[in-house]
Amino acid sequence: MSERLNLKGMSQKRLEEFFVGIGEKPYRGRQVMKWIYTHGESDFLKMTDLPVPLREKLSEIAKISVIKPVERYCSGDGSEKFVFELEDGERIESVYIPTEERKTVCVSTQVGCPIGCDFCATGLLGYRRNLTSAEIIDQHLQAGLLTGMHGAITNVVFMGMGEPLLNLDEVIPAIEILLSNFGFELSSRRITVSTCGIPEKIYNLADSGLRVKLAVSLNATTDAQREKIMPSFATIDEIIKAAKYYAQKTRRWVTFEYVLIRGINDSLSDAKRLAGLIKDVPSKVNLIPYNKFSVSKYEPPDMKTILRFQAYMLENQITAIIRESRGQDIFAACGQLGSKPVEKI
Ligand code: SAH
Ligand code: SF4
Repeated sequence: MSERLNLKGMSQKRLEEFFVGIGEKPYRGRQVMKWIYTHGESDFLKMTDLPVPLREKLSEIAKISVIKPVERYCSGDGSEKFVFELEDGERIESVYIPTEERKTVCVSTQVGCPIGCDFCATGLLGYRRNLTSAEIIDQHLQAGLLTGMHGAITNVVFMGMGEPLLNLDEVIPAIEILLSNFGFELSSRRITVSTCGIPEKIYNLADSGLRVKLAVSLNATTDAQREKIMPSFATIDEIIKAAKYYAQKTRRWVTFEYVLIRGINDSLSDAKRLAGLIKDVPSKVNLIPYNKFSVSKYEPPDMKTILRFQAYMLENQITAIIRESRGQDIFAACGQLGSKPVEKI
């Protein structure tokens, strides 16, 4: 039997084209999208508003893939981490983060990460492969179904394992499904793509018309300092320039993420340089005190240093939030994904 085509992960346009290609009307694509994402259905035979012969035909030529949850960890703070097994046996992690106002799912875009930042557990894992759009969107669907919050998830952040901008061909259809009226009907302001800063790809995303929010993991204030902790595709100036273009083009504020690491990037001079670097970019700063994991070599700064850094930003009219790290007890916080396997070795 020839390989069945996976209909999960296809954008609305592609799915409509698929149905036209098999001699059906385009609206069949929209109907099937509703079944996949609104009802979480993966069996064509149960799609009761399709004619029976079409249901049978689809079962023969197409499929709807499902990633398999193999581990689930519940944090004392309400967040949950899921480990999913993919068809080829690879594993990825996704995190559900509820607060009073929003229910967020953090999704992975790659198995491991090719960038290899020195402070990140995922980076230390190495890189295996890109995820497909089906595997990306399914993390959102399955996390919703498993937590009983399907249909009530308000935000999606592309901040799990991997670098989303190195997998834009698959990330873009996943975003289109999040936005579609026949998918998850999310507003683009509730979707955030986080990147280590690849200018060329930031321009591509800005020009895509998707208008999702962008987070840029700056993490340093001089090129020399940045190179010590993360391999870079560009200079800080080039990254800031791309971020500025993104903000102007999409009319959305950019978030600069800044992992505060003791003795590396946490001085008052850093705060001053950071304020200077981003002053012309419509932006805010997320300060993330470094999260430790089993083989980590760094420490977070003490609270006094963190607050001093933030105070300098605020005094200079820069919105700077100290990001509380959720799910630390289950290794679900920023930079900790994939750290359990490392611990076992
Ligand atoms: N690859 C993308 C998205 C995934 S990483 C990126 O780098 O932006 C998500 C965030 O976690 C980034 O802002 C990264 O700087 C941060 N991070 C990585 N390791 C961390 C650690 N040990 N402690 C705190 N934040 C960390
Ligand atoms: Fe990859 Fe982001 Fe981790 Fe760096 S911080 S290794 S880019 S996942």
